[in-house]
Amino acid sequence: MRSMQIVDWGRPLELRRYDDPQPLGTEVLLAVDACGVCHSDLHLHDGYFDLGGGERLRVADRGIRLPFTLGHEVVGTVLALGPEAEGVRIGERRLVHPWIGCGACQVCRRGEELLCLTPRIVGTWRDGGYSDRVVVPHARYLIDYAGVPTNAAATLACSGLTAYGAVRKLGTLTAEDTVLLVGAGGVGLAGLHLARALTPARIVVADVDATKRARALDDGAAAVIDNAAEDALATLREVSGGGAAAAIDFVGRPGTARFAIDALRKGGTLIVVGLYGDRLLLPLPLLPLRMLTVRGSYVGTLQELKELVSVVRDRAVSMIPVRERPLEEANSVLDELRQGRVLGRVVLVP
Ligand SMILES: [Zn+2]
Ligand SMILES: [Zn+2]
Repeated sequence: MRSMQIVDWGRPLELRRYDDPQPLGTEVLLAVDACGVCHSDLHLHDGYFDLGGGERLRVADRGIRLPFTLGHEVVGTVLALGPEAEGVRIGERRLVHPWIGCGACQVCRRGEELLCLTPRIVGTWRDGGYSDRVVVPHARYLIDYAGVPTNAAATLACSGLTAYGAVRKLGTLTAEDTVLLVGAGGVGLAGLHLARALTPARIVVADVDATKRARALDDGAAAVIDNAAEDALATLREVSGGGAAAAIDFVGRPGTARFAIDALRKGGTLIVVGLYGDRLLLPLPLLPLRMLTVRGSYVGTLQELKELVSVVRDRAVSMIPVRERPLEEANSVLDELRQGRVLGRVVLVP
């Protein structure tokens, strides 16, 4: 097994070689076919999330031990099954649902494994797909993605699912409503495609980067806005006829969240998805006076990932552009992502 591993928080990943793991119990061993590189990998690699005001949420405090293998957007081919594993056969190609809980507690049995207090997330809590091998605890987390190209399927596990989970929270919309999407990176573009497929609303995309705005326009945005421009809010109100019914902030910075809130019409909903960091200063009277809802959305459930695979396959939703890079180039890919130079998604191929 070859794995690109975190050996020290924030330091370059190192290539390490091990014997192939033996799947135990219900575990399934996969040969990794591709693994997406996600923005949240940067925070995990740094070892913390910035909570603003000098506060940090430390990854090490979760009990993650180094060396550790990142990678939660994994597609692979079944190589071996543990003695109690069933539901897949050797040689089958599967998408990994990485957002795994203990599988036994009340929320897990309800299918809400994201709410589990003892998570076993692949690439976050247990070794992930920056490797040529990955072990998944149970075959029920393996999804048949036939009909979706392999590299695109990988990106569904996080960027696609994050977009889908957020779009599902937009509520009931009409063709007269405007939805504002802030941030046209990988997840934002997936959000644009899904929102166009699943809601009748007009989709307006805001980004500070002209290339990303052009791409969003090509991909069907009704209008694009430079949210760094002084007249950004006025433009938004003009194109939306008074304000957006709902907004999704795919960036998650104080400036983007505040722009999105100010862009809402009365009764509007902001869904915060991005994990960029820092904190939002929000005048509290705005919430009751303008009857606003602010909520968070984090990836999605196993059921939602299955739905997403069907939506992409059956409704031919075009997904984000995906480029391949060799596994050993993980460090330069992370650097490019950190510098905002990745359009769409990169998958590592071992
Ligand atoms: Zn991710
Ligand atoms: Zn649980």
